[in-house]
Amino acid sequence: MTIALHGVGVSRGIAVGNVHIIQRDQFDIREYSIEPGSINKEIQRFEMAVTNARQQLRAIRDHIPGTTNTDITAFIDTHLLMLEDAALNHEPVRLIRELACNAEWALKLQRDALVNVFEEMDDAYLRTRKDDVDYVVNRIQRMLLNQAPPKHEEPDNLLTGHIVLASDLTPADTVMFQYHGITAFVTEYGGPTSHTAILARSLGIPAIVGMQHAMRYINEDDFIILDGARGVVLINPEELALKHYRKLQKEEKRYYTSLGKLKGKPTITLDGTPIELHANIELPRDFDTVLQVGADGVGLYRTEFMYMNRETPPDEEEHYETYTKVMKILKGLPLTIRTLDLGADKQVDGGRQSGLVASNPALGLRAIRLCLKEPALFRPQLRAIIRASIHGPVRVMIPMLSNINEMILVLQMIDEIKSELDEKRIPYDQNLQVGGMIEVPAAAVCADVFARHLDFLSIGTNDLIQYTMAIDRVNDEVNYLYDPLHPAVLRLIHTTLQAGEKANIPVAMCGEMAGDPQYTHLLLGLGLREFSVHPAALLEIKQIINQCKLTILKKLAKKALNADNGIEVAEIMASANRSLS
Ligand code: PEP
Ligand code: MG
Repeated sequence: MTIALHGVGVSRGIAVGNVHIIQRDQFDIREYSIEPGSINKEIQRFEMAVTNARQQLRAIRDHIPGTTNTDITAFIDTHLLMLEDAALNHEPVRLIRELACNAEWALKLQRDALVNVFEEMDDAYLRTRKDDVDYVVNRIQRMLLNQAPPKHEEPDNLLTGHIVLASDLTPADTVMFQYHGITAFVTEYGGPTSHTAILARSLGIPAIVGMQHAMRYINEDDFIILDGARGVVLINPEELALKHYRKLQKEEKRYYTSLGKLKGKPTITLDGTPIELHANIELPRDFDTVLQVGADGVGLYRTEFMYMNRETPPDEEEHYETYTKVMKILKGLPLTIRTLDLGADKQVDGGRQSGLVASNPALGLRAIRLCLKEPALFRPQLRAIIRASIHGPVRVMIPMLSNINEMILVLQMIDEIKSELDEKRIPYDQNLQVGGMIEVPAAAVCADVFARHLDFLSIGTNDLIQYTMAIDRVNDEVNYLYDPLHPAVLRLIHTTLQAGEKANIPVAMCGEMAGDPQYTHLLLGLGLREFSVHPAALLEIKQIINQCKLTILKKLAKKALNADNGIEVAEIMASANRSLS
């Protein structure tokens, strides 16, 4: 009999194969005393385990293919750094000496202390770092207890073609999947914005998260079909279902190969409206992909990643050099630099004062609010962008505006910087474009006011939806309310687009919604003419745009705006998408 289970599909694609289950490490750690004469030997045993754990992790890192997204190496680097940190290196040694206890026990005590600190943090992002502590500690414990590495880390190819099932996964696990030819995975926990989900998308592995109690129904070696787009797993599928999915799988493959032909082709609707397709970029290393997919430019460069994993924020020269370097790669394509958006779910080592943890961080001192409070953090970046503007078409974009006064202060600061540069005869682009992100409902409602003061707007749907629906975007318990199709969200998008049209300024969209093919028709119908998307999604969006007529889509969007709820909008769009494709 076929059983169907449902979860949250976070990475599209179909996989068919046998299951391999990864069980979480559960070590039974007991305390025992060490004779005073053997303490040094016990410390050596601990230090050797740490060294070996580090070597294992480095070996995993070395197996990452050069083409792999930099997110993955960054995760492993974080774990390597933790292995070098005094909290995990020195503290257990001190405990072994002080308590005359075994290394495993000392490490367990230190792990509990660290996890307690993380658990008490209000910042949702930092709270998730306790999983990283557990991951690193387990690796050392496994060494101390002489346990073999898990099967999926062994360098044989026995797992090739398997689909992994786990309660949750670590970044290093995910990297090894690629190395061992594992085709897909499903987890019992996690949401669409979890690390695991992000990694699955960047690796292009079909994946489902949050499939609760999956381990109760799926056994080792079960034959399953996994549909990442719909979040469905079929256990022991019947021949008919198998045939259907194998056909879908082939069609998908053919489809993605065919998209390559669109590189370098114009993006234009069947009724002749040109559409701009820009790319979202996080790290300078990823700028090459902008040219590879033939994007019209970079619509969102998330610069806060420059501030992460370091003690001090970058200075003006570092900003300037980075921007000049990426502009060279872009060879004259426009670059929209989003000024730093630290706070909330963003890791903030190199930017935020320690101890500054709000009880409601997404509603707290984040993005432009933090920048205006701390000009020493903001001004060097602004100055560097203005100076870099002499080297090519750069636009400055301010995140999380909620009040026009914030923008007026920024514009004043820009004018001051320009005067300073004039005095020193430092050149810059006199027509530097300054824009703002519309991602707070208050800004969307008053988009006309922002449009009067700015050169362009860009809609950040990730936050706009979070704030409109009053849900924390990293909290998987309220994820079900994260609905891009809610008429309230659509009306705010529409209001913003209309404000731009009236003021004759461009309005882009750079949130995830812009890069999701299921919303392309609706967004075009609502009036969006500039999309900024993850490079991997760009050609698919281009394909959809090049095959549709705006006249039809405008009528559909009108219907959607008047719908009662997201389900009704989804039905309107699904039937339209079917008839349009
Ligand atoms: C957004 O909120 O939609 C956005 C693009 O910004 P970020 O995801 O970086 O908050
Ligand atoms: Mg945002």
